[in-house]
Amino acid sequence: MTWGEWVDGELATIRRAGQWRAPRTLDAAGPEGKLGADGRPVVSFASNDYLGLTQHPEVIAAAHAALDRWGAGSGAARLIVGSRPVHDELEAELATGKGTERAVVFPTGFAANLGALTTFGGPDVLVCSDELNHASIIDGARLSGSEIAIFRHADVDHLASLVDRADGRRCLVVSDSVFSMDGDVAPITDLVALCSDRGCLLVLDEAHAVLGPDPDLRDIAALRVGTLSKTHGALGGFIACDRQAADLLVNRARSYIFTTAPTPADSGAALAAARILAGPEGAALRSRLRANIDQLRPGHPSPIVSVPCGAEADAVSAADALLARGLLVPAIRPPTVAPGTSRLRVTLSAAHTPGQVERLVEALRGLGLLAAGGS
Ligand code: PMP
Repeated sequence: MTWGEWVDGELATIRRAGQWRAPRTLDAAGPEGKLGADGRPVVSFASNDYLGLTQHPEVIAAAHAALDRWGAGSGAARLIVGSRPVHDELEAELATGKGTERAVVFPTGFAANLGALTTFGGPDVLVCSDELNHASIIDGARLSGSEIAIFRHADVDHLASLVDRADGRRCLVVSDSVFSMDGDVAPITDLVALCSDRGCLLVLDEAHAVLGPDPDLRDIAALRVGTLSKTHGALGGFIACDRQAADLLVNRARSYIFTTAPTPADSGAALAAARILAGPEGAALRSRLRANIDQLRPGHPSPIVSVPCGAEADAVSAADALLARGLLVPAIRPPTVAPGTSRLRVTLSAAHTPGQVERLVEALRGLGLLAAGGS
């Protein structure tokens, strides 16, 4: 069989399973844009730009300034060519924001998780991972060569029984703090207590924790993994941790050592965003986001709102029906989620107007996917 024949066979398998996917082009700056070749106007509820900072004038100006000062690319990995001052400033700001001694910036959140798991995992480590953790955690754990034990979603009793298997080995517990598909929150207080009692390292992926939780992890061994592509509206990832852990990451994490440093423009944008987040404007943006979430699902803890549809075909037809009304909401289906649990994944932003959220609420009600008066 030639490679071409093998690729054709794989593509046919994907099509037969009804799982063919291809990115559409969305010409947009913020929630409103034009979709596809026909330029159909849509309001997007698909982006993780939770506070609208991709469009903030100070964030954009900071990216321009970094581009003008240091150029388009960063040239090589930081251990080879050196950091630009903006990388150092960004790490200092992120560490301050997370209340840790240090932060280490990676090109993406995906690379940060790979770095955390491969540096602290290994053949002599038991990694206990929530069954709904992000793909980058799953891949990092596999790549680390650790024994992997999967605990039932958010089930700390099950986790405790798995930690027993460590049997003298070092044990690492890893969890999203806000889960990327359902927008629910991990049982962080219990995770912290268990890790503290049993001497486990807690790796917490806070990619979606724009509204918290924001636990104090200073008394336990912990790595706080974050991304700069969502709340910060830029691109990059980071690990906030103590001084020793940061030094080990810089010396061991292959997704830090063997990859080109983030571009100055991305890091400049993220730095400006981090400063906004720390001030009163950050608080105001968060309360605008909170109000938008409450309009769709009162009290829900995060901007990711999952609307269950069940069968894959039902999720796809619901997404099509919303699109016909000018609302872009992705259908999430296998293999991303388990068969029979397909859903719409709505992500809300402070950049949505109450009117845009109301359009979505009305449309979901019209499709019978939202009870009157909320969800
Ligand atoms: N962790 C979680 C929980 C995520 O949802 C994502 C991105 N969807 C990542 C990590 C990866 O972050 P990035 O997009 O910056 O690579």
